[in-house]
Amino acid sequence: MDAKQIMKFLEDTAYVHVGGTEQEKQVAAYISDCCKSLGLHTTTEDFDVPMATVHNAKLYAGGEEIPCMAYRCSGNADVEAPLFYLNTRGDAYALSQCKGKIVLLETGVGYWTYHDLVESGAVGFITFNGDVRVADSDIDDRELRTYVARDLKILPGVNIHARSAVKMIADGVQSARIVLAQDQYTGTSQNVILDLPGDIDKTIVFTAHYDSTPLSKGTYDNMSGSAALLSLTKYYKDHPHRHGVRFIWCGSEERGLLGSKAYVAAHAEELKDVVLNINTDMIGSIMGGFRAISTAEEGLPYFIRYLSLMHGVCIESRQDIYSSDSTPFADAGVPAISFARIAPSNTATAHNRYDTPAVMSGPQMVYDIDFIRLFADQMINAVICPVKREIPDKMKEKLDTYLSRKRSKPFTF
Ligand SMILES: [Zn+2]
Repeated sequence: MDAKQIMKFLEDTAYVHVGGTEQEKQVAAYISDCCKSLGLHTTTEDFDVPMATVHNAKLYAGGEEIPCMAYRCSGNADVEAPLFYLNTRGDAYALSQCKGKIVLLETGVGYWTYHDLVESGAVGFITFNGDVRVADSDIDDRELRTYVARDLKILPGVNIHARSAVKMIADGVQSARIVLAQDQYTGTSQNVILDLPGDIDKTIVFTAHYDSTPLSKGTYDNMSGSAALLSLTKYYKDHPHRHGVRFIWCGSEERGLLGSKAYVAAHAEELKDVVLNINTDMIGSIMGGFRAISTAEEGLPYFIRYLSLMHGVCIESRQDIYSSDSTPFADAGVPAISFARIAPSNTATAHNRYDTPAVMSGPQMVYDIDFIRLFADQMINAVICPVKREIPDKMKEKLDTYLSRKRSKPFTF
C-alpha cells in the first residue's frame, strides 16, 4: 500500500471503536471488506466480553457534585465514607489508613493495587485521568477488568479529571459519596483472521489490534498497526512465502488483551506449529523512535540490530515484554516480537482525543512497514525459522509479573 492508500485507511476508521461495541464490529467489517477487495477471504471469531450499561454515576465530595464516569463492571452502590488519598504505592502504613474509606488513587487499577485496596478494607475508589496543563476536561470511561477483580470483592469506583482531584485535595475534602447504577451483561468482540498457506506446515502469525479506547479515535493506537497487516496481506498474496502466514486483527486489546488471549485459548493445539508471532502496535507517527521488542531468545534482538545496520534503519532493539497482543503468544510459548514507533508524549499520545490521523505520517508508515516486511521476509522464507521456539526464563519471570501472577519485588532501602 502506498502512503495515500494507508492514510485513507486511517481516515476511514478514525472514530471511537471500543471492544465489544457496534463501532468495533464496524471496523472489523471494514477490514474484512479491504481484504475482500484484494480477493481474499477473512473469517471472524467471536469471543465473550463483559459489558455494562451505566444508568447513574455520581460523586459527591466537599458539598459539590464532581463530574465523574462509573467504572464499568464495578457494581451498584450508594456508599458514603471518609476520603483517603493513597499517594504511596504499597506502603503498609498508607494501606492501614484505607479501612472503611473511599480511596483516591494516583495510579490506574491494576491487579495488585486493587488487591491491596480490597485487603485493606477500602469501600470504594476514585481514579483520575487527564493533565491539568491541557485545556480539555475529558473523563475516561474505564472498567474494573475481570482479571483485576478475578478473585476479589467488587468495590464501586469512579474516574474523574485530574483538575477535580487536585481541587478535592486542595480544599481538604474529608468525605465522599459514590452512587452507581449499572446493568452488567456479556457482549461479543471479535478477531478477524486471514490465512495465506505456505509450502510447509509451520506458520508465522502477524497480529495487530484494531479496537480503540473510549476517548480515542485509535489511529496511532492502533489502526496504524492494522494498516501494516493489511499492507503485508497484499504483499504476501503476490509473493512467495515458504511458511504459512496468518494475519489476526485482534479485538478488545485495550480491555486487557482479550482478543489475543481468546485466540491463544481457542487455538492451543495449533500453536505448536506457530514458530513466531510478529505484532505491530503504534507505528508511523510523525515523531518518535522505532522499537523492536523481542519476547524471545537473546539472539533475536541482535539479528534485528544487524538487519537495521545492514539497511540503514535506526531502531532500538531489545529483549523485553511489550504491553500488547504479543504477550499472550509469548506466554503460550511462541517467540514474539512487537514493532512500534514511540512518539515523545508531547507530540503524540494514545488513549485520548489527540490520537487522530493528524499525528500520523503516510511516508513514515510506508518506511516502518518496509522494515517490518524486510524482517518478516527473512523468517517467512527461511528454510527453518531460526528463532528458538522457547521463552527464556527471565522473560517467563517478566510474563508472570506482567500478567499479575506474581508480584514484582517491592522497593526496599
Ligand atoms: Zn495499542
